[in-house]
Amino acid sequence: MLIFLNFCITLSSYSQVDEKYAIKTVVIDAGHGGQDDGTSGRKAKEKDIALAISLKLGTYIEENIPDVKVIYTRTTDVFIPLNERANIANKNKANLFISVHLNGNKNTKAYGTETYAMGLHKTSGNLEVAKLENSAILFEEDYSTKYEGFDPNSAESYIIFSYLQNTFLEQSLNCAVFVEEEFKTKALRKSRGVKQAGFLVLWQTTMPSILIEAGFLTNPHEERFLMSSDGQEYIASAIYRAFKSYKMSIEEKSQFAAKIDANIQDDDSLLPESSTTLNENFNIITFKIQIASSSNSISTSSDFFKGFKNIEEYKFDENFKYTIGSTSNFEKIVEYKKTIEETFPDAFIIAIDGMSNLIPLNKALNKTKN
Ligand SMILES: [Zn+2]
Repeated sequence: MLIFLNFCITLSSYSQVDEKYAIKTVVIDAGHGGQDDGTSGRKAKEKDIALAISLKLGTYIEENIPDVKVIYTRTTDVFIPLNERANIANKNKANLFISVHLNGNKNTKAYGTETYAMGLHKTSGNLEVAKLENSAILFEEDYSTKYEGFDPNSAESYIIFSYLQNTFLEQSLNCAVFVEEEFKTKALRKSRGVKQAGFLVLWQTTMPSILIEAGFLTNPHEERFLMSSDGQEYIASAIYRAFKSYKMSIEEKSQFAAKIDANIQDDDSLLPESSTTLNENFNIITFKIQIASSSNSISTSSDFFKGFKNIEEYKFDENFKYTIGSTSNFEKIVEYKKTIEETFPDAFIIAIDGMSNLIPLNKALNKTKN
């Protein structure tokens, strides 16, 4: 049995993390339970596999990152309403909410992993996944009062999510990228990507939150993998490593920000570099400040950008992202962000490699250090 756990990296170097940024509490939410089986394969029930993976994941975090408090929404086969799961996370002031699920599809050939952040679905496939997961509320009494008339099976109900202002969307997407990256590269799963859809369980959380579909129980081959103890450990350890990377990326950012006292004003090097230079050298890491994200393309001269010039449009997964500034110097971009934040308070730094791929910030920082 081969498990890709990486215990070598010590977290003690992060002891000076600004409290404001520290990831101290994570809520692990095993989907479904009790009378709600979730999706089913030939033998496996989603509620059982989700619980097994969740408990393994929690144990990895407890054993290897003792400064993080792990809270489970359930540790046994019980039914927990969706809004109560979010309540548990909110009440405990969790810094991250991870909901673990397994996928199902009429097409038994479908397989692979998907990690979701809250948002409006961009494809009917994403909507179907959300419908399936949200139909868990049909097991709840008074669901129509509790969820303000939301009908999990009606596409119209999902329109409310188009008005969604999710403060934590970008962090949630960043975390989801780490998870899918681990699934793909270490657990050797087929990553179907980072996606967005309207999940009720994520809706009411007040922190970055993701929902993982760790594979299809309706695919007999994948069902066997997910039912096996090895398979569950692969999945759990991949999520564990993603959590660790996410934690480090958040906390490392705060350290960098604290270290910098340089006062940079207008700097030509913050203007976009030519894209040909970027594409010629894969190893060049470029830092940019993301100020907006949209499912539709927005003109870079739109009023939306409040007169800022040099806005760049960048397509990632199913979203258009809008960035300003471009430099390979991380300290400079951190400093520039302070100016941008005055107009776009939710702005944050992203890293792009020479092939125009969005890469996790901690990886980018490691690369630039070497
Ligand atoms: Zn589910």
